[in-house]
Amino acid sequence: MNLIILGPPGSGKGTYASRLQSKLGIPAIATGDIFRSIVKEETTLSRKVKEYMSKGELVPDKIVIEVLTERLAKDDCKNGFILDGYPRTIEQAKALSDFTKIDAIVRLVVPEWIIIERLSSRRICKNCGEVYNIRFLKPKKEGICDKCRGQLYQRIDDTPKVIMERLKVYERQTQPLLEYYKGKIPFVEFKCESIDVPPEVAVAEILKGLKKLNLS
Ligand code: ADP
Repeated sequence: MNLIILGPPGSGKGTYASRLQSKLGIPAIATGDIFRSIVKEETTLSRKVKEYMSKGELVPDKIVIEVLTERLAKDDCKNGFILDGYPRTIEQAKALSDFTKIDAIVRLVVPEWIIIERLSSRRICKNCGEVYNIRFLKPKKEGICDKCRGQLYQRIDDTPKVIMERLKVYERQTQPLLEYYKGKIPFVEFKCESIDVPPEVAVAEILKGLKKLNLS
């Protein structure tokens, strides 16, 4: 099964994708994570990528498409994948459809105030990328990942100014994808109406929706 999980920054894409991958037995692929690991290296590419990411802008399509198609060609994707953070532009969606068929889009609908609250208190594991929130999804031990004991950190783009820019970029460049995919690919919608919905509840709803489409 090939899935796209689509929603604004902070809507829970990464949190749900990482839980869905173990339930569905297919890998979650987050372009944001791929770029964060590229940025750690000292290369011409990494400097370029960092420039965009730190401002909350999109990395150019050409780079993203190349990185993504290379990742999807790997062996672990042969039974399917969950895309988190890709596509983000119509151009990227077109490149994806040249490459493979998508079975469903999981659409996350979250009010803006929840997004801002969540992103400003989000923490990520340096080691495994697991997502926490110091207010709404706390680790058992402060600053330490429950899963791998790695250290938690705050992303450089989770600052109020960059968060606002990422939301603007989402509205301008990614939201049009909803129209683009309408009628082409079935949607499973999850509406988040309160800030402390446990991830397990959201994931159960999403799985129910996939089942209705005979996909899980
Ligand atoms: P979020 O969804 O929380 O904003 P991500 O981790 O998905 O964060 O992405 C972080 C940053 O990585 C983006 O702001 C952008 O600069 C870059 N990025 C990730 N995926 C893409 C993509 N598909 N196209 C362009 N840029 C991307």
